[in-house]
Amino acid sequence: MSITGGTAVPSDVRAPVWAATAIVDGRPIDRVRFTADDAGRIATVERGVDPQADDRRLGTVVPGMGNAHSHAFHRLLRGRTHADGGDFWQWREAMYAAAASLDPEHYGRVARAVFGEMLVCGWTAVGEFHYVHHQADGTPYPTAHAMELAVAEAAAEIGIRLTLLDTAYLASGLGPAGGPATPLLAEQLAFGDGDATGWLDRWHGLRAALSASLDTTGLVTLGAALHSVRAVPVEAMRTILTGLPEDVPLHVHLSEQPQENLDTLAKTGRTPTGVLAALGALDPRISLVHATHLTDADITAIGRSGATVVMCPTTEADLGDGIGPARRLADTGARIAVGSDQNAVVDPLLELRGLEAGERLASGRRGRFSPAELLEAGTAGGYRSLGLGRHTLAVGDPLDLVEVSTSSLRTTGADPAQLALVATASDVERVIVGGRLVAEHGRLLATPQETTPEQLLAVALTELAGSRGADRPAPTQTADHPAQETQP
Ligand SMILES: [Zn+2]
Repeated sequence: MSITGGTAVPSDVRAPVWAATAIVDGRPIDRVRFTADDAGRIATVERGVDPQADDRRLGTVVPGMGNAHSHAFHRLLRGRTHADGGDFWQWREAMYAAAASLDPEHYGRVARAVFGEMLVCGWTAVGEFHYVHHQADGTPYPTAHAMELAVAEAAAEIGIRLTLLDTAYLASGLGPAGGPATPLLAEQLAFGDGDATGWLDRWHGLRAALSASLDTTGLVTLGAALHSVRAVPVEAMRTILTGLPEDVPLHVHLSEQPQENLDTLAKTGRTPTGVLAALGALDPRISLVHATHLTDADITAIGRSGATVVMCPTTEADLGDGIGPARRLADTGARIAVGSDQNAVVDPLLELRGLEAGERLASGRRGRFSPAELLEAGTAGGYRSLGLGRHTLAVGDPLDLVEVSTSSLRTTGADPAQLALVATASDVERVIVGGRLVAEHGRLLATPQETTPEQLLAVALTELAGSRGADRPAPTQTADHPAQETQP
């Protein structure tokens, strides 16, 4: 679309945006003009109008996409874990080694690179499921909240919205029926806070620290996460649910592996979904990540609660997890979102296509999710999961847009309403967050020096290589209870 013109409007100016076509509620609308208020929210929407002189002119746009589940540092493992096949446990050892290599400076550099990649690929918001809180031996860093602030500052610098899902991770496993939970392993000590009260105290302190340091950007939101039913004992979950404000988005890894359900049943007499239901945790503010292996009763309970289910199709395929019943969950009332999880793939469009592909492979039917439903999962579903409110390109919504080429090898001739099933991140041209242009053709514009995610990643990898790890504890070679160790 040559109609779109150049970028004469400075990237950091919240200029009106005119789109030749905007996909709104899954339908292409022609010649749409948006203006933003001082907070970067949509102030006006006009349809069927011509652009004005100082408008930023775009081609075909979709709402910015919300990545509801990420572990940024897992990106370090991309393309390095496939040689010997193996299983989750080999992957996990590599992941723990990567975690052990991080300190606040390195973590910030990695997060900058990964968030930058997300932004140029069309993710305009990310939920970072963050659990590498402390030094490798579990002691806090000298600067309070150093790791969390490093992640938050990385997002603010790159220009992506971040919901920092600070994660409670208190045990390595459920432990025997009637007995205590299994303590953290040596390589997990950096994740822990002792007990639920310790985690809550740190979370409230972090909220104060974030509001003091980042209150000008408007990009960072603090959320919370329970790592999983196996990593947070039931009574600790109860304490945390009581101590968290009700409006904070809450995420949890649910049921990624069948054995995990069996272990939870053996310990509690309930499935992981049943445990959360008994705690009163299933409600519209919770997001359930990897709703993969569910009973019929689980599906009914989740659907009735109005919870969000976060599917991570590229990761679930990579790790051989299985295919979750997304369509059935949606039919019973659950909201659907998607996430990049281990970031072996960073491509919102491939996550959406993977969601539908899994359904087709499992059911033998096409069109399990309509193109409009897929796009909703990738946009409004993700933002809702991350506590970012409505995201439908209506007045009051964030002016977050992704321009997708309709003239590439992949997309030429496609119905714009079906872009989610043909385009990839390679077709993302320009990205707008809060009315500002933050990425263009793979380059990051909000950073002090215009750069690319590849450059940021090269620096991060170079600095990490061989610089750390020798003095860190070696990963435990054999999981003492591997079935409980499923979620990364
Ligand atoms: Zn995860």
